[in-house]
Amino acid sequence: MSFGILRRASQTRHRPNTKQLPSLLSLLFSRSFSQLCSQSQRPSFGIAFDIDGVVLRDHTPIGGSPLALRRLYDDSGALKIPYVFLTNGGGFRESKRALELSELLGVKILPSQVLQGHSPFRQLVNRYENEFIVAVGKGEPAAVMFEYGFKNVMSIDEYASCFDDIDPLAKYKKWTTKLVTNQSSSFEQIAPRKSVYSQRVQAAFIVSDSVDWSRDIQVLCDILRTGGLPEREIGHQPPLYFAHDDLKYQATFPSERLGMGAFRIALESIFNRIHPNALEYTSFGKPNPFVFKNAETLLKQLASSLDHELPLVNHAIDESHFKTLYMIGDNPSVDIKGAQQAGHPWFSILTRTGVFKGKENDADFPADLVVDTVEEAVDYILRKECTSLNL
Ligand SMILES: [Mg+2]
Repeated sequence: MSFGILRRASQTRHRPNTKQLPSLLSLLFSRSFSQLCSQSQRPSFGIAFDIDGVVLRDHTPIGGSPLALRRLYDDSGALKIPYVFLTNGGGFRESKRALELSELLGVKILPSQVLQGHSPFRQLVNRYENEFIVAVGKGEPAAVMFEYGFKNVMSIDEYASCFDDIDPLAKYKKWTTKLVTNQSSSFEQIAPRKSVYSQRVQAAFIVSDSVDWSRDIQVLCDILRTGGLPEREIGHQPPLYFAHDDLKYQATFPSERLGMGAFRIALESIFNRIHPNALEYTSFGKPNPFVFKNAETLLKQLASSLDHELPLVNHAIDESHFKTLYMIGDNPSVDIKGAQQAGHPWFSILTRTGVFKGKENDADFPADLVVDTVEEAVDYILRKECTSLNL
């Protein structure tokens, strides 16, 4: 097995020559944390996995991810290592995404272990709970926001369908009719269609990647340049929120695809040409340090829920901080930059299964460690943390 591990110069320490220990290592690679470490040992570390380009490519597991994740549970299937998925992707409720990930990866994943780009939108519920808002993106953006507690939300598909001829190209888009029909039945009660003509849109949320850029840019410009009521005079721009600002991401196609950051650039460029004031917006998601702080908080909560049968005093100490939190990602400017900005206790691991494909480390945002796959990343973590074996 080739490790292909590179460290940043400042992180270099002695490590065994893995080629001299093939039989021992091949045995260890298949072992779970509970087999490697003492059962009474509460882990002083946690792991955050990026999803796209690290554990999945579209809906296909990559890099040995099912085996890698299985090692974080004991033989009975109980979680032993606190870990979360920290992705900028989204479009579906955390509960639905957790179920899907569980099926694809073969382990039981809780909704509380799934942090998506739009998860921080929850924190804006107090401000917009009863306000009329529009949700944009693939999947079920209105359902996502409704589950967070926004009571008066409408998807942009539904919203656009309320205005005749708002998209003059709609008649050439054969998929539009089907989408609108499906969403109408689901969300009519959340925000009645008649309300769109009298209620100003108080905020627009880009929950996930826009499916129809031309329609969404047109309708968002209509909303944003008129103060929330299309067909009206130019007014003050309502707040605009993006789940993240990724310029590109790795999907099934061999080269990277344009992401939400590219959509933001397109919208901003056009808006700034048709409105006297520059577009104002807020972006969440990695590499925002806030996202990593939030992940740390959730990992602590997860750690406290794991049963390690330790005395209460030790629980209190262990829950107060982690010695190390590992971020495993494929995108240097998102995953690695984010972990670096977040600082201690984050340790960044870059895989070669997604956006990053270089032989050495990334030049702009060098990771603490570079490996080929997520399986090798988990190997490294478990061997490093399980010092009882003196490896
Ligand atoms: Mg990724």
